[in-house]
Amino acid sequence: MLRDAHNRTIRDLRISLTDRCNFRCFYCLPNGEPPLARKETLLSFEEIAYLADIFVSLGIEKIRLTGGEPLIRRDVPKLVEQLANLKPDLRDIALTTNGFDFPRHAENLRKAGVDRVTISLDSLDRDKFKQITGVDALDKVYAAIRAAKQHGFSPVKINAAVIRGHNDDEFVDFARFAREYDIAMRFIEFMPLDSGHEWSRDMVVPGREIFETINAVYPLVPVNKTRGSETAWKYNFADGAHGEIGIIAPVTEMFCGACSRIRLTADGQLRTCLFSTTEHNLRDVLRNGATRDEIIKFIEGVVLKKEPRHYINDAEFVQPARTMSFIGG
Ligand code: SAM
Repeated sequence: MLRDAHNRTIRDLRISLTDRCNFRCFYCLPNGEPPLARKETLLSFEEIAYLADIFVSLGIEKIRLTGGEPLIRRDVPKLVEQLANLKPDLRDIALTTNGFDFPRHAENLRKAGVDRVTISLDSLDRDKFKQITGVDALDKVYAAIRAAKQHGFSPVKINAAVIRGHNDDEFVDFARFAREYDIAMRFIEFMPLDSGHEWSRDMVVPGREIFETINAVYPLVPVNKTRGSETAWKYNFADGAHGEIGIIAPVTEMFCGACSRIRLTADGQLRTCLFSTTEHNLRDVLRNGATRDEIIKFIEGVVLKKEPRHYINDAEFVQPARTMSFIGG
């Protein structure tokens, strides 16, 4: 069991497969990719599978593969097959993707053992989508959503990062989309993790505002009384329509007290928080020939250093040097 110094149990591991991305979302990679990790520093699939086996033996129940854009990495289904060997102790394998390459991998990913997929979609308007992501690919994302449904990923989740002045006029359209296509729609507050360091508080749309805008048109009822270790407050439509709304508000409604997450970057650094300013070099421990027990001790020691909370709202907040695309969203 991995427990931190604040009595939180760590059950959720996010693994970034690559720091590369084929989108150029203005709020993430406005100036293109920062210098990429050298290839030899990236963990191989064998290394990832070995570490995942150790993490699962320590109580990790959910693994989410992310990036960068994870599907840029070749043969992701082969990695998933290895991870699926860790079921049933590993209860859930999830993937976060921008959807661009998803349709051609959907069937193999599903067969290999991915249970759930989250597809990013920041606008339902073709021009706005292009302006936000830098690519004219809205149709490809729709195709990805269709493929996810067709191949039985359930639920199909959509992530929209919300940025004031860019897509804060689309909440009701997204809610209608969720109802029509039976989608679990997630709105995420903009966090200071952009490579351009241009984040500012007035670009953040508070989760409360998102809730109220949707609730005024489509009344919402909470799915649960508490959020548990989930990042999102989840709502059903009061009229019983299909679909679900989730609001992730790390800036205005911090949820660190129940955090159960830890992250492994593509180059093998263990991060205890999205906003950590220090990383822990698990790759070198592994490659320097540590035994399984030594690796376990290292991981347990790192988890004990997990921050009690993030400091976004404190005057002395320092934005991490690594961006969301490197850390893994
Ligand atoms: N490439 C994949 C994708 O697009 O889903 C996975 C990685 S991406 C970093 C994961 C999610 O993080 C996306 O939904 C993206 O919109 C979100 N994201 C990136 N930067 C963000 C930020 N600064 N604040 C909030 N969400 C952000």
